[in-house]
Amino acid sequence: MSYTDGLRCRLCGTRQPIAPAAICEACFGPLEVQYRYEEIRRDVRREEVERRPRNIWRYAELLPLEHAPSTGEHTGFTPLRRARRLGEKLGLRELYIKNDGVVFPTLSFKDRVVAVALSKAIEFDMNTVACASTGNLANAVAAQAAAAGLPAYLFIPDDLEHAKVIASQIYGARVIGFKGNYDDVNRLCTEVADRFGWAMVNVNLRPFYAEGSKTVGFEIVEQLGWRTPDVVVVPMAGGSLLTKIHKGFEELTKLGWIDRNEVRMCGAQATGCNPISAALKNGLERIKPVKPDTIAKSIAIGNPADGFFALQTIRSTGGWAEDASDREIVDGIRLLAETEGVFTETAGGTTVAVARKLVEQGRIRSDEVTVLAITGNGLKTIEAIDQEPPPSIPARIRDLEKLLETQSMKRQEAIIL
Ligand SMILES: *Cc1c(COP(=O)(O)O)cnc(C)c1O
Ligand SMILES: [Zn+2]
Repeated sequence: MSYTDGLRCRLCGTRQPIAPAAICEACFGPLEVQYRYEEIRRDVRREEVERRPRNIWRYAELLPLEHAPSTGEHTGFTPLRRARRLGEKLGLRELYIKNDGVVFPTLSFKDRVVAVALSKAIEFDMNTVACASTGNLANAVAAQAAAAGLPAYLFIPDDLEHAKVIASQIYGARVIGFKGNYDDVNRLCTEVADRFGWAMVNVNLRPFYAEGSKTVGFEIVEQLGWRTPDVVVVPMAGGSLLTKIHKGFEELTKLGWIDRNEVRMCGAQATGCNPISAALKNGLERIKPVKPDTIAKSIAIGNPADGFFALQTIRSTGGWAEDASDREIVDGIRLLAETEGVFTETAGGTTVAVARKLVEQGRIRSDEVTVLAITGNGLKTIEAIDQEPPPSIPARIRDLEKLLETQSMKRQEAIIL
């Protein structure tokens, strides 16, 4: 049974029936899915949710399908882990990482949004799916379209990380590289959606796609024992994930599953592509688009579709946004790996680096319950890491002893220095 209640314009409030559309007919504002919350509140208890399978569909009443899902049976419910050692380094006593670097099937949080979008496309009887992507979305669409037996067209900038290109092509999807950045590719996609009638995950299915991101917020709350954290730090590309995690907290409050939502939403960007954090820091009302230049390609969107709303959410919750240089991003990746044994991609490195800055600035206090949204897997962006190759020696005990000796000497020298 579905609890959806049509689409509503986020700017002027005009209503439209559920359809593959993202833009308000009255004012061209973005559309958002509505739900009949009073009925959900009446019909569903959180204890019931707890008994359901550990995937995104355990929150089905708050997701925009009319029928049973066709995809995402194993997607979601990723680990929320206490990060004591990282917390010690950052100066946070109760720190958690929400690790979407291990989402099924393609190791980024985009699997959540795609599971919702493709299930919706199948409901709409649309049989070709497509997207513009900075990499992870393409991976998720490619894999899930293959599993659903749908042809997929993926439009990407031609300078993406090798692993992200291969991990789209392997599933038999049609991958097309374009000279230019994501924003150029995305502009083309809007035309494509109109002309070919495809299910464009990030264009005409955007209202449905975006709802999938709420599940990150639902899971954080449930995994904390139906408690909200004080602060969440979220990487921002288009800005959708941050706004939807917050929307998820709001919805759980409406249902009475939590008492209140006072979570401060903090955003993380790369300094080489920081339209949202720059607008916040400069006190601007509007986002000024930028031309991306950063190793954090997965979040390199210079003209963020939900930037305005992300800014609004950060401000209204009393949060903040910061950005991190490429060097700080790599340091963030290393720090998370060395302290928690979690290898994240550049977006995750950005989140760690920004969290560190927010603590240093006194914007997160040491006793506040803090969650870092780690959204992707480091194996996809190994180009970002400049690592000396390990030593190679003959397989003899003498050589090993010699090596260990020189290494420990080096270490002692380093300590003395
Ligand atoms: C897409 C992406 C984001 C940001 O998502 P938006 O909703 O566009 O802000 C963050 N992290 C990773 C790894 C991503 O792929
Ligand atoms: Zn409108």
